[in-house]
Amino acid sequence: MPSEAPCSPTAQNPRCDAPLDAPLDVLIVGGGATGLAAAWALAKRGQRVTLLEREPRTGGNIRSERDGEWQIEHGPNTVIMKPPLYALLEELELLAEAQPANTTSRKRYVALDGRPQALPMGPLDALRSPLIGWHGWARLLREPFVKPADTGEADTNNEESLASFVQRRLGPRILERMVDPFVSGVYAGDPSRLSVRAAMPRLAALECDHGSLLRGGLAHLRQRRREPPGVPAEWRGKLVSFPQGLQRLAGRLAERIAAQPTSTIACEREIVGVRREGENWVAWAREGREWRARHLVLAVPALAAARLLAPLDAALAQPLEAIDYPPVNAIALGFREGDIGHPLDGFGVLIPRSEGRRTLGALFASTLFPGRAPAGHKLINAFIGGQRDPAAAEGDDDTQVARVLADLSDLLDIRGEPVWRRVSRWPRAIPQYELGHLARIEALDAALERHPGLTLAGNWRGGIAVGDCLENGRLVGESLAFP
Ligand SMILES: Cc1cc2nc3c(=O)[nH]c(=O)nc-3n(C[C@H](O)[C@H](O)[C@H](O)COP(=O)(O)OP(=O)(O)OC[C@H]3O[C@@H](n4cnc5c(N)ncnc54)[C@H](O)[C@@H]3O)c2cc1C
Repeated sequence: MPSEAPCSPTAQNPRCDAPLDAPLDVLIVGGGATGLAAAWALAKRGQRVTLLEREPRTGGNIRSERDGEWQIEHGPNTVIMKPPLYALLEELELLAEAQPANTTSRKRYVALDGRPQALPMGPLDALRSPLIGWHGWARLLREPFVKPADTGEADTNNEESLASFVQRRLGPRILERMVDPFVSGVYAGDPSRLSVRAAMPRLAALECDHGSLLRGGLAHLRQRRREPPGVPAEWRGKLVSFPQGLQRLAGRLAERIAAQPTSTIACEREIVGVRREGENWVAWAREGREWRARHLVLAVPALAAARLLAPLDAALAQPLEAIDYPPVNAIALGFREGDIGHPLDGFGVLIPRSEGRRTLGALFASTLFPGRAPAGHKLINAFIGGQRDPAAAEGDDDTQVARVLADLSDLLDIRGEPVWRRVSRWPRAIPQYELGHLARIEALDAALERHPGLTLAGNWRGGIAVGDCLENGRLVGESLAFP
């Protein structure tokens, strides 16, 4: 069973079903990272806010499970400690519980010619790395002299694909061996379809601001050394989770929201329609109950928002419907320690498309954090599917496990059968910021001007990482709070 997140009757604020005589300040639909962070920003400021979630638990994609001594994540495995997350954990009194990932997780492998190769961790390593090779170095050294130009493949909205951008600036080898697997690991996406400005805005900005990725990268490093860090040294840039998994963070947010006197969380409330009525927004649930609020925040996946908004304004629904969410499955496999020859001494292994395997990569989960597998055992978490191979996510659990084992057995020297397994299916996993994404968001924002009091948020804009969602949610909440 998934570990319990507040929304169980005990943690739920009993006022959630009380009749409301005055409209709420804010009604939030969707209890993932975005909705929870928005609700918390409002709740702690004493606003009258209610958050409604369709499922029996909050957290959305964040979903941890304990089964005996196995501890897994169905969705995200880690968050990166940046100043906003550090401030949030401090505020929620969760810092003492947070676990930094094992220091060996700095090491990351990429499959090359059927063998895991460690990504270079320093300049000397980089010189020797077969992942770069002399071809790669020749292109890297030329990078500062490549003109920042509109010469790359650009669509009508002047958006360039990530593949075109990287190929133009760094050459085909870096694209194939580093960027391609990285994109699989983060987006389960296709670099030739992702928009560089939408999916990797910081990368695009380096070229724009400094004329070169290498010059821009160095300038950023120098600037970061001058700036106050915002996070103590022991936490800076660390990957983080909790002994119970990331759901602890979502759970604590929900607990704190429910504990505020003016705020409420209600689960198992699926909103099926919204309308404007005078100065207020009204949302109604499948069972017929209605909520009224001055502001409505939809913090749900793009397609769910599109369905709610289509009867209201097609110009709102169309850009949201166009955002693709390919399927991804997370396959957690537990092994006896002696059955894996590879030391699993790192974060995990990513598999470039050119290796001809279907698995996108695997995290070394029991290396990352203690307490994820019984003594004498190891846990890996593999991912399969994604935009370039959605069919790989089809098939029953046996098929999924067999597919992953066929790809990983020689790579990680796996000699025995898994002793424990769990297949988590995400039929619509991660929104793809494809070419045209920025234009779609612009069109959406223009249409939103006709609907005062309505805010749309979620991982389909402003970043897909949990940390981005928490931060964007906080900003939404703060923008709606009044003194
Ligand atoms: C397999 C996988 C692995 C990932 N790994 C990582 C990782 O390691 N690190 C990282 O930073 N990020 C990772 N991500 C991305 C990250 O988890 C998500 O981008 C983020 O959690 C999304 O949060 P959200 O609140 O925007 O959306 P969601 O989590 O999708 O929340 C939306 C909520 O809205 C609810 N809802 C939908 N419709 C309705 C309705 N009509 N009425 C009421 N409620 C509704 C849903 O039930 C859901 O709870 C991963 C994602 C996946 C799928």
